[in-house]
Amino acid sequence: MDMRTRITRYYKELDRSYFMDRYKEQAHEDTPLPIGHGQTISQPSLVLEMTILLDVNEESNVLEIGTGSGYQTALLAKASQMVYTVERIEELHVKAIERLNRAGYTNIKFKLDDGSLGWQEYAPYDRIMVTAAASRIPNSLIEQLAPNGKMLIPVGSDFMQDLLVITKDNEGNVAKQFITNVRFVPLVGDY
Ligand code: SAH
Repeated sequence: MDMRTRITRYYKELDRSYFMDRYKEQAHEDTPLPIGHGQTISQPSLVLEMTILLDVNEESNVLEIGTGSGYQTALLAKASQMVYTVERIEELHVKAIERLNRAGYTNIKFKLDDGSLGWQEYAPYDRIMVTAAASRIPNSLIEQLAPNGKMLIPVGSDFMQDLLVITKDNEGNVAKQFITNVRFVPLVGDY
């Protein structure tokens, strides 16, 4: 099975409403929805496309910045070996742990912290997924990306961002590719 088919299958197995406390009746709509604290659960079609673009496989060690509801985390966990996810809002962090543990995931590690500085302890990561809008690419995340690694990150203003794929080759050279315009909530942090 190719990577797109595999990830799409995992995506279809996920019930988005499971990751929401409110607006459950709107969970099937292809839009971002509020999850409290001014944050949102991402648009499902974008979660799928970003996971495909990140090109994860059963051997990938993935760092995710912005756990939020845990919805994107769940898809990454199904498709990769290990997911390390960082969230800065305690209530969202605690709820995501509870949900994903209850759903039986055993390959996710959670951290309550400013993820704009990455997660040094388990670096380097084969893949990095940033699900909040950065004003520029955080240096720590580039440093924590493994050779032949790939990172997806929305970069721009609070209102509109460029979704970028950042690649690092096996000599450490970094390249950027523009994918599309997106709108995420801001990455709040010390980067
Ligand atoms: N993928 C998530 C998206 C949540 S919105 C989902 O589908 O539910 C983005 C999340 O990034 C929010 O929960 C926000 O609190 C978090 N965030 C913002 N800045 C952060 C930072 N510096 N470190 C960790 N998380 C951050």
